[in-house]
Amino acid sequence: HIPVIDKAGRTDGTWSRADFEWDARNNQYICPEGEALKQFRRSYSDPNRGPTGKGVVKYQALKLTCQACPSKSKCCPNADARKITREEHEDAHQVARDIAKTRQYDISMKLRKKVEMLFAHLKRILGLGRLRLRGPCGANDEFLLAATAQNLRKLAKIFPAPQKPGTA
Ligand code: SF4
Repeated sequence: HIPVIDKAGRTDGTWSRADFEWDARNNQYICPEGEALKQFRRSYSDPNRGPTGKGVVKYQALKLTCQACPSKSKCCPNADARKITREEHEDAHQVARDIAKTRQYDISMKLRKKVEMLFAHLKRILGLGRLRLRGPCGANDEFLLAATAQNLRKLAKIFPAPQKPGTA
């Protein structure tokens, strides 16, 4: 229900992380030119000796490959080699991104806005930015009353009072 805040996009027109293919099996990215961006270039016999891979992991292409690449200006014009960072929970981010493309997500967003509008109304129109009563019980009473008022208002819109004869 919450969109991923993605900062991987680039504003200078160069390729962003989305243009690179993630190869989970080999723990590497593949660039649009088919070259691998790897986390390690050597294998550690003792896994504790290498970088831990926790938090944010950096993947890098070979400097020599990038220097000779015809697409370097579109990929990493200001660096010797292209680097891409990947967060520890990137798989979960991708699941959220995929969900955000579905119709159900659009419906969820509309419903979320409906709920948030009610809270905005409570705060701005009914003045519940601050509570008058103290403590959780006081807050509960105030919110219950305010929600009742909101529901009555809604009901009045759905079922308007019958017009008396002679009134416009
Ligand atoms: S500059 Fe390097 S990473 Fe970028 S497309 Fe070329 S080879 Fe791949």
